[in-house]
Amino acid sequence: MADPSDAAREARPSVERAVEVAGETPAEVGAPADAPDDGASDASGAEAPLAGTGDAADAAVAPELVVRFLDVGQGDAALISCDGQWLLIDGGPPKASSTLYAILQRLGVTRLDCIVSTHPDADHAGGLSGALEVATCGTFYASTATSDTRTWRGVCDRLERQGVPLSIPAPGDSFDLGAARVTFLGPVRAAPDDNNNSLVLRIDHGGDSFLFTGDAEREEESDLLVAGANLCADVLKVGHHGSAGASSPAFVAAVDPQVAVISVGRNSYGHPTDEVLDRLEVQGARVLRTDQGGDIVATTRGNGIAFEQVGMIGE
Ligand SMILES: [Zn+2]
Repeated sequence: MADPSDAAREARPSVERAVEVAGETPAEVGAPADAPDDGASDASGAEAPLAGTGDAADAAVAPELVVRFLDVGQGDAALISCDGQWLLIDGGPPKASSTLYAILQRLGVTRLDCIVSTHPDADHAGGLSGALEVATCGTFYASTATSDTRTWRGVCDRLERQGVPLSIPAPGDSFDLGAARVTFLGPVRAAPDDNNNSLVLRIDHGGDSFLFTGDAEREEESDLLVAGANLCADVLKVGHHGSAGASSPAFVAAVDPQVAVISVGRNSYGHPTDEVLDRLEVQGARVLRTDQGGDIVATTRGNGIAFEQVGMIGE
């Protein structure tokens, strides 16, 4: 397999042109905030080929990867689709169960080919129960099999009912999501706390890439750096909601994202911290936040990523 990081680097200028965030209300979806100078990029809709961001002929036939960073309040949830296959990475807090349920129903999703639970904390695993009420699960990847919180038991009960075992992936394990490739990078070694045991994974589609880090903090980031993991990505789902204990300067430099997505809601932790926002700015990343405009939808055919921020998909 070709090193996706090379392709990602080559695609950087294209991504930069393609990143246009539409207005914040559903009525404005489809109207890019301001068109790029060459008029070549078009973020106006899921069906629009991203002409001008690469080979136009390839763009017309390449399957679309859609990454939806869901506004679940203080927590993480991302719903991803490609070629009719569906992946859910975390489900937000317990109160987001109804949100997940509504979104999946609205999108007509009755089967999630894969669910990745980055770690069992309630703000990531809580809403998975709602997802498992409306959709069956093919493979369920978890960072641990031993958590015993009420939230986690609720998830495990539903998986048992569906006859789906927990799978604990190892670094380097990968699977296809349609034409996209999903690869686990971490945790590199077992850590004593849930955050630093977060499953870290990347999604590559053509020349475009996304990195998901759960609530990994400096310790796990450092392990990934030492292990030489393929961290470089166009889009970074910022670790631990922008906590200062995550997104170390070395890690942010290694990822070198064009866009940094922070999944965050009202909270008493000070997330995201100015410190992390500064680090991302220094790296030149554009920051998008779910608490500022709702769901963030990234669309790519592998040759440039278009962004829309479209309010609540589930409403
Ligand atoms: Zn969290």
